[in-house]
Amino acid sequence: MSLIDVDGLDVHYGELQVLWDVSLEVREDDSVVSIVGPNGAGKTTLLKTLSGILTPTNGRVEVLGQDVTEAPSDDIVERGFVQVSEERNLFGDLSVEKNLRMGSFTKREAFEENRDMVFEMFPVLEERRDQKARTLSGGEQQMLAIGRGLMAEPKVLAFDEPSNALAPQLAEQVFETIEEISDDVTVVLIEQHVDRALGLADRGYLLENGRIQTEGTGEELLHSDAIKEGYLRG
Ligand code: ATP
Repeated sequence: MSLIDVDGLDVHYGELQVLWDVSLEVREDDSVVSIVGPNGAGKTTLLKTLSGILTPTNGRVEVLGQDVTEAPSDDIVERGFVQVSEERNLFGDLSVEKNLRMGSFTKREAFEENRDMVFEMFPVLEERRDQKARTLSGGEQQMLAIGRGLMAEPKVLAFDEPSNALAPQLAEQVFETIEEISDDVTVVLIEQHVDRALGLADRGYLLENGRIQTEGTGEELLHSDAIKEGYLRG
């Protein structure tokens, strides 16, 4: 069964067309589906369209069985599509624990159980549970953003450039965490770290200039000429 089914998607900002005839699928049996491509390719725009923030000019977008153009974004979270955005969108003046509570608004009854699961995954967040989010390091903020996403018990967790602005060692930790999460939750991973993102992926898509250029298994894409020539030099 498809968790996400996108067919013939066009998206514009005003007159400017940013996505062209994009089709992709995320299936129930996928652990990780990666969408890779350069700056400005339209990756964030695609994610915003999946979560119903942007409305397409053409095409069909089904997320967890519902046409997102007809359902507001909070319904999408309720049904299990949760996004960890590039900006992390934390509440800087609220504590770590309160940020986790904000993530559990669709699953309030399970707050304590899910919080403890997040603390088990990220012990540093438990140590800092009363600290304001804005005083955390960049790596800790990323962990909190991921933890907050998990509080909603997602079926699909979508990451927008989770390694962005992190030192290599922290980025590596984030990828390891994503791999762990993908045992239980289907992950959509948007990344510029092409080798790492495709290494984790069951399947992947290369998005360039707003179009899907190549698709295949992670392994196939890693060995494709388009990826080798454009993204894996040096
Ligand atoms: P990055 O990795 O830099 O975030 P991206 O692949 O996520 O890039 P998008 O952010 O989706 O790319 O941007 C795709 C194109 O759409 C870019 O040319 C960008 O300038 C343009 N764009 C993005 N947001 C807007 C907006 N609100 N209004 C007008 N144009 C926009």
